[in-house]
Amino acid sequence: MNLTLEQAVERLAYWQGVLRLLDWKIQVQILPRYLIGDRVGATEWNDLRDARISLLHWEELNPSALENTDMEITLVHELLHLRFRDSVKGLIPDDSLHHDALEAAIEAVAQALVEMDRERGKLYEQTREFETDWLDRARDPDFQ
Ligand SMILES: [Zn+2]
Repeated sequence: MNLTLEQAVERLAYWQGVLRLLDWKIQVQILPRYLIGDRVGATEWNDLRDARISLLHWEELNPSALENTDMEITLVHELLHLRFRDSVKGLIPDDSLHHDALEAAIEAVAQALVEMDRERGKLYEQTREFETDWLDRARDPDFQ
């Protein structure tokens, strides 16, 4: 899913709540590739729980590079880094195999969370449509 900055800010607030990261002050920005480097997302943070998440602009996402091209999944991926920050702090060097495994695990969880959230959204919409139809029919004087 492509996100405008406004949508990214809204999704950030939503996922911050879901992931119980409300004690963090998090900003999000959307950057061109020359500013973000060879990746689709990045996060900087400090010990005061201030963080800034950068997302690669959708016009530069490259599906053929096996990159994740769903900006919401990238946003959740970056938030999971903050979520796990204290658990892995200093334990997993950036260039280790454990780090690759952590990246893969975080990506899988981010994908699963976003997919489940979208399925739940669809189910909610279907239920609403069903209720609206039912109420319309119930208000119909010919309803039996
Ligand atoms: Zn990562």
